[in-house]
Amino acid sequence: MSKGLPKRSEDYSLWYNELVKRADLAENSAVRGCMVIKPYGYSIWEKMQAELDRMFKETGHTNAYFPLFIPKSYLSKEASHVEGFAKECAVVTHYRLKNAEDGSGVIVDPEAKLEEELIVRPTSETVIWSTYKNWIQSYRDLPLLVNQWANVVRWEMRTRLFLRTAEFLWQEGHTAHATREEAIQETEQMMNVYAQFAEEFMALPVVRGRKTENERFAGAEDTLCIEAMMQDGKALQAGTSHFLGQNFAKAFDVKFAAKDGKLDYVWGTSWGVSTRLMGALIMAHSDDNGLVLPPKLAPTQVVIVPIYRGEEEFKAISEKANEFATALRRVGVSVKFDDRDTHKPGWKFAEYELKGVPVRIAIGPRDLENGTVEIARRDTLTKETFELNSQPIEQKILDLLDDIQNTIYNKALHFREEHTTEVNSWDEFKEVLENKGGFIAAHWDGTGETEEKIKELTKATIRCIPINQKQEEGECVLTGKPSKGRVLFAKAY
Ligand code: AMP
Repeated sequence: MSKGLPKRSEDYSLWYNELVKRADLAENSAVRGCMVIKPYGYSIWEKMQAELDRMFKETGHTNAYFPLFIPKSYLSKEASHVEGFAKECAVVTHYRLKNAEDGSGVIVDPEAKLEEELIVRPTSETVIWSTYKNWIQSYRDLPLLVNQWANVVRWEMRTRLFLRTAEFLWQEGHTAHATREEAIQETEQMMNVYAQFAEEFMALPVVRGRKTENERFAGAEDTLCIEAMMQDGKALQAGTSHFLGQNFAKAFDVKFAAKDGKLDYVWGTSWGVSTRLMGALIMAHSDDNGLVLPPKLAPTQVVIVPIYRGEEEFKAISEKANEFATALRRVGVSVKFDDRDTHKPGWKFAEYELKGVPVRIAIGPRDLENGTVEIARRDTLTKETFELNSQPIEQKILDLLDDIQNTIYNKALHFREEHTTEVNSWDEFKEVLENKGGFIAAHWDGTGETEEKIKELTKATIRCIPINQKQEEGECVLTGKPSKGRVLFAKAY
């Protein structure tokens, strides 16, 4: 086994990068900012996808697929949209290579220039709304509730595995509605679906909120979000849900005939979460020994490791292990019996700790004699001897998995609460940000200028204006001007 991970307390960033690589989640590729998601990492992403997809379908959405390439002219149709994305677009200009005349290799064939350049989608509003124009004629065609699972490309300058990559995997929902109210309701519903997913499955407490105008999605009238806190006290935007008003309907001339025959533009929403959630999952729960995965998203929930000497012991232990595995699988627990004789138990223990397998069962010859097994939980790193005749092992494990899921959530919630501070003066703001980090709940005068100024001075941004917070008037922490309520500031990923 290679030497241990860097410590979180010493170099959080290095710890994260090393963990992602050593736990076999992902690695960098030849193209800067693009990552290879390895099988173990991808199997966690698949579990996330499966749950989200189920939740989208339960709320009436269906999946479709739209093209990777967007004609350049489409992107320019919505003015603020193109302005927001122009700086990070990958553009296809040619469609052929040829051999260089001097034999130096292949070059782009200058004669194969595209008539209209194509953008690799950074997000799909434009291509989807140009399609919706053909799909929507009357109120009977509405609402249109479509989601797509895809990859997108945003030419990010500062990248980090999962959290911010140039190409990332995501889902993007794009819905069309007959009324403003219905579209707003959809925007709120999807923010709530994301929050529920984060809390129930990722064991990640999130703040539901609204972005300020400066941080709003390019082309949206309103952006709702879920914000999470990582173990270094930095914030991470974990998902966004946009109310698009009639902006894209106007840009692509998508009108519908209402019941009374009157024509009006359609109301839209879009919402997305990405492989950034993998980064959130890793950063929020893992420790200096490796990953800590919430049982609901762990590809393997229980690993059984035999401890034996000689063929005879191995046979007897294997029989028991297979019996347990079958019983556990029957109640829906994913189990791996690691019967490889190529690795020692100690090596396996460390490996599964690194990979974040929530529960480990070890069975040795003495356990066989005594009717026990050793059960270890990854989150607390504690072990116990379980008496097999005290209760069925399936029940024991199901209860334990539940307990681990809740414990991880509560730990993250406690951390967030400990690291959320109300401040009332500028000195206090700077002091807390410098020495404690986390979320700072402070009054703000509501202007983009003050928001920018604070960002310039401290690197802290307004993460969101929390929804459902108590109404409280006050004075802006920087300018002293009147404020309608506290907002959450933090340094963010
Ligand atoms: P947006 O379309 O900008 O609202 O982003 C939708 C989702 O994708 C949000 O949850 C973002 O956190 C996430 N996201 C945005 N940019 C990136 C990136 N470069 N890498 C990974 N995820 C991203």
